[in-house]
Parts: sequence; structure tokens; C-alpha cells
Amino acid sequence: MNRLDNEYIKRLEWKIVTSETMEDKAEYADKRNHVRKQIEVIAAVPKNWKTIQCVCGRNFVIENTFRCLYCGERFCEKCAEIHFGQTREEYDAK
Ligand SMILES: [Zn+2]
Ligand SMILES: [Zn+2]
Repeated sequence: MNRLDNEYIKRLEWKIVTSETMEDKAEYADKRNHVRKQIEVIAAVPKNWKTIQCVCGRNFVIENTFRCLYCGERFCEKCAEIHFGQTREEYDAK
């Protein structure tokens, strides 16, 4: 997936991915399916160090991903920074 792809950016936007808006909008079915698939992967393999696919298309060890409190999706660090609205450096600077 092209990281500058509009759909990709849209998927990471904070406002449109809250659980409330996701429930009633068909266009977010893709996200729901993605999160469900991540949960299935986590449930299926009881061991640590299994990998999971981030929305950017790359696979990451689950322990190295970050789960959103609101939508439940797991992200790699780079995608999480976009989804959560700030980088770690920006957070540390506060
Ligand atoms: Zn990612
Ligand atoms: Zn989220």
C-alpha cells in the first residue's frame, strides 16, 4: 500500500475512526474487518512473538504494535503516531 494513498491517510484520521462513527457507516466496514482480523490472529495463536498486519501492509510482532483505546485497532509505531496525532518526540517535548 502506498503510504501517501488517500485511503491510507483517511484510515488513520483520528476523528473518523471512533467506534461511534464506525458502527453506522458502511465505508468503514474495511476497518472493522481489519480490526476483527487482527483480533482473530491474536486469539488463534497463544504464543508471544506472533506477527500482525498493520494498515500500512507490513507485518509486525504484536508486542511492537500499539492498540488504540477507542477503535481497538493495532498499529505499528509510525502509523500509531499518525493515528494518535503526535509523534513520540512531540509528546516528550511537552
Ligand atoms: Zn503501520
Ligand atoms: Zn483508533
